[in-house]
Amino acid sequence: MAKSAVIIGGGLGGLFTGAILAKEGVKVTVIEKNATIGGGLQSFIRFGEVFDTGMHVIGGMQPGGNIRRICNYLGITDKIHIKDVDSDVIDTLYFAEDKKSYTISQGKEAFVEKLAESFADQRENLKRYVDAIYAIVDELDLFYLRPSDDYIAIHSEEFMMAANEFIAKYITDEKLAAVLAYMNPLYAGRENMTPAYIHALICALYINGPSRFAGGSYLFAEALRDCIVENGGEVITNDGVEQITSEDKLITSVITRKKRVFSADYYISAIHPCTLVKLFGDNSPLPKAYTNRLNDIPNSYSAFTLNIKLKPNTFRYINHSVYYMSRYDEIWNFGKENWTWPLGFLYMTPPDIDQGEFSNKMIITAPMSWDKVKQWEDTSVGRRGKEYEEWKLQCVEELISRMEELYPDFRSYIDKINTASPLTIRDYYAVKEGAMCGYSKDCNNIMLSQVPIVTKVKNLLLTGQNCNVHGFCGVPLTAINTSEVILGKNYVLDKINQLDSNA
Ligand SMILES: Cc1cc2nc3c(=O)[nH]c(=O)nc-3n(C[C@H](O)[C@H](O)[C@H](O)COP(=O)(O)OP(=O)(O)OC[C@H]3O[C@@H](n4cnc5c(N)ncnc54)[C@H](O)[C@@H]3O)c2cc1C
Repeated sequence: MAKSAVIIGGGLGGLFTGAILAKEGVKVTVIEKNATIGGGLQSFIRFGEVFDTGMHVIGGMQPGGNIRRICNYLGITDKIHIKDVDSDVIDTLYFAEDKKSYTISQGKEAFVEKLAESFADQRENLKRYVDAIYAIVDELDLFYLRPSDDYIAIHSEEFMMAANEFIAKYITDEKLAAVLAYMNPLYAGRENMTPAYIHALICALYINGPSRFAGGSYLFAEALRDCIVENGGEVITNDGVEQITSEDKLITSVITRKKRVFSADYYISAIHPCTLVKLFGDNSPLPKAYTNRLNDIPNSYSAFTLNIKLKPNTFRYINHSVYYMSRYDEIWNFGKENWTWPLGFLYMTPPDIDQGEFSNKMIITAPMSWDKVKQWEDTSVGRRGKEYEEWKLQCVEELISRMEELYPDFRSYIDKINTASPLTIRDYYAVKEGAMCGYSKDCNNIMLSQVPIVTKVKNLLLTGQNCNVHGFCGVPLTAINTSEVILGKNYVLDKINQLDSNA
């Protein structure tokens, strides 16, 4: 008899886990509360343009890249639209303090040499730093999709070091140390907290070569959905799970907003754990201590986003992301109490499938704390009040005025602006405090901030960004872990490796 699984949440984690399980013969039902699937892969159309919500820069999609290999195994690689960024300039970063720009290049050697143009005396330190990054990543078998029989992973001291300490161990120039932490806004990095392995993993992926979705990240979500459906599964939208019933410490069914009841052998939560625990009501089969723990884990910070429609033929398409930082010594201030806003942000021009010389749109994302919107936490979309609208306009102004430092005529390029605040993220993804990357990972207590994929309820599994690393580079890997609880350890990894060796 085929096994069956109900997956709560049709975001990156739910769709990847669903696609893997469906491909391996499990009868999958994915249930998504929104009208559109995708979660962080969701796009929306505004002013006639497609804007992506939570997936702007991605890693692992270069030939041989880990996520691409998973896509090959799922048979979706030919159906997706990816545009690699330019290898000589994968990112640029600008520090307003001294009006200096730095270029990041693809490949270990080019990465070192490009930065050594500005920090010649740090060349050898940079080489050691890059080697240390790859040594940390090599400790993660899953990153390379290597089967492993380790049940308890043993890691080096550097692996669990705070990312800022790790950088400082190799780099003696303070400005360069700040430059190397430029991707903080991408992984919600925090001083003395974010583990070096998160920093290393993201850096290695981008040094290997980042990519972007062309035409919208929703096309990728659709490819995963098609994979589920073609393998006999079902993806339900616009009908979130509102209740989970249980008996004798096992889940018996999930009940949706439209009062549909679904039962299966396994239930996989691909939503924020704090959202999950509420679905049990007063009759939770989860131990109270576990529920309290899930509710108490600190979340990563959120973000404020400008989605800008540009006037035609005014702004040239840039095939990389640009990071703006006010000051070098503020690079680790993100997430600190009362941090000033905006400390920094990243902007990018998302590519169309047939991208021309000019860009029609721009996305500006600035990390922001939940505290900034807490006063409106009891409001809902479209009904947040005049004060909130005025506050949003001030935020827009703050970001636009900084863009004018880089492009004095920037305002004249703008046709229309749409904004998304931490409240938007909370309400669309049902993520506590609009956290960008789910739970905040804390190297001082890694057990606290990583939730195992198995739970005390035998037929309840977890997946998604809260279990391990967030984003496009982490969530698909956790989807393999979760799927292998049902399919058998290394079952999927062996298949992926077999496929690669046959190619
Ligand atoms: C502004 C922003 C920018 C980002 N940029 C990047 C980036 O450039 N690159 C990158 O790799 N990562 C980026 N991320 C992070 C990335 O989006 C997340 O790590 C990823 O989407 C998490 O996947 P997930 O499956 O865990 O959760 P999600 O993708 O959020 O999926 C959860 C899904 O569950 C649904 N749901 C919730 N409750 C219920 C319910 N009761 N019933 C049914 N469905 C429910 C939600 O609607 C959602 O679709 C960004 C995030 C944000 C917020």
